Amino acid sequence: MNIAIVGSGIAGLAVAVRMRLRGYVVDVYEKNAYVGGKLSAFEIAAKNNPQNIYRFDAGPSLFTMPQYVEELFTLANEPFDKYFNYTKVDDVCHYFWNDGTNAIAWADEEKLAHEFSEKLGVNTTDVKQIFLSAQNKYELSGRIFLENSLHKIKTWFKTDVLRALLQTYKLDIFTSMHTTNQNLAHGNLKLIQFLDRFATYNGSNPYKASGILSMIPHFEHGFGTYYPEGGMHNITQAVYKLGEKLGVKYHFNSEIEEIIINQGKASGIKLKNKNSVIPYDAVVSNMDVYYTYQKLLKDALTAEKINKQERSSSALIFYWGINKTFSQLGLHNILFSENYKSEFEALAQGKIISDPTVYINITSKLTPTDAPAHCENWFVMINAPFDEGQDWEAMKIKLRADVLKKLSKILNCDLENHIEAEQTLLPTEIESKTASFKGALYGTSSNSMTSAFMRHPNFSRKIKSLYFCGGSVHPGGGIPLCLLSAKIVDDIFVAH
Ligand code: FAD
Repeated sequence: MNIAIVGSGIAGLAVAVRMRLRGYVVDVYEKNAYVGGKLSAFEIAAKNNPQNIYRFDAGPSLFTMPQYVEELFTLANEPFDKYFNYTKVDDVCHYFWNDGTNAIAWADEEKLAHEFSEKLGVNTTDVKQIFLSAQNKYELSGRIFLENSLHKIKTWFKTDVLRALLQTYKLDIFTSMHTTNQNLAHGNLKLIQFLDRFATYNGSNPYKASGILSMIPHFEHGFGTYYPEGGMHNITQAVYKLGEKLGVKYHFNSEIEEIIINQGKASGIKLKNKNSVIPYDAVVSNMDVYYTYQKLLKDALTAEKINKQERSSSALIFYWGINKTFSQLGLHNILFSENYKSEFEALAQGKIISDPTVYINITSKLTPTDAPAHCENWFVMINAPFDEGQDWEAMKIKLRADVLKKLSKILNCDLENHIEAEQTLLPTEIESKTASFKGALYGTSSNSMTSAFMRHPNFSRKIKSLYFCGGSVHPGGGIPLCLLSAKIVDDIFVAH
């Protein structure tokens, strides 16, 4: 059997490995010259000092659930550490508030509870109870709904699914995540903000999303956060090389223009600027599902239906080479806004407030060669609305000034003087580089109770032998979920 995969995002690469392991002939077509989609990397040189080179991961910076990457190597019977190494991060995230408060969320629960008690004035038992509650929610429902297709009847007859359905009252499905967090944090405003920020894990709004998302802290603090040696793009490289070893064929600079449907079945693909059809027995699309329907299947009606679902948020990113080091910062840092509610209200209106929450990732803290000596590579990300035709150039200029003002105050320096290399990424560029509809980072948002059920299935109900993987379909965006989408495609493929 011959299978074509549209796109070399992490999900496409994982499907390729799984399909090859089943003995199929697998071709991955990628429109870019490089592998990995959002999960790629690049370097920039200092403007006035070109020998000063900074390396950056372009998109994802937080690595959780490494077991889903390792699983691919186990299935292939290949030694994982020959391709890829990672370490557990002790200081999960450094948090800063405008009033001068700062606290480190440690991986060690005891240490974390004491830090939050000392810095945020909360009870250590309450902190531990919050993480226990997140764990309980995950164990009751997380694995079931993330690891299975929600669109196959057999899923609903599994005993653990029935058990979860009987205990839905424990999941806070019908209250907002913010209200759930208010209760969990007994009204401590900083702790609520800390908990609310986990909604941004999948580009959602804590004031609108369901309380079931309050299980997300368990991903960070139950399973832990990890750092891939050499940076995030090594996740891509490892899975890419595994596929290569197994015999997957990759075609770069090869944009698929059409999926050919014959008698209700996906039967081939057509590349841009090529006239001939290449026949296949099945096609898996790792392209954003909206564009798969709109561009490759020319099905405007279904694309429009998908368009009705709200997109996740996007981001505006400044990649800064900083010729100074900051001991108070770690690998992951979050500098909160004064008013979280108004930040999300602005995002919902397509805007960014002047005091936004700022996330800074500095891989040179763990890989010193990612920046010149005594320098740091800053990936500075601000949540942005998805693209609706805003004037992004103007927004970028204003945001840069606002962010520099905020960071300079908190870090007690004139930061602009320390930026010696710079590049930016706008929502429109996220869209053009990876064909992600409206520049959304995580496909559709989880801002309603039914979001999980509204995401497109990993197969087509109308077209045989057509499958979908990646952040825009079930179970959603983020590296672990994309890897799970590949696993679900594999399960469904075998069952069909
Ligand atoms: P994508 O990465 O979207 O790639 C799709 C690929 O398909 C692209 O390479 C594209 O060029 C190709 N393609 C599209 N159309 C065609 C076509 N017609 N023909 C050929 N090729 C085509 N996740 C985390 O887990 N942790 C994080 O910290 C995190 N932070 C993020 C920060 C940013 C700035 C961004 C952008 C995303 C972040 N994410 C994070 C989300 C994560 O990156 C994505 O969910 C995941 O990488 C998406 O993978 P995917 O398989 O859906 O494919």
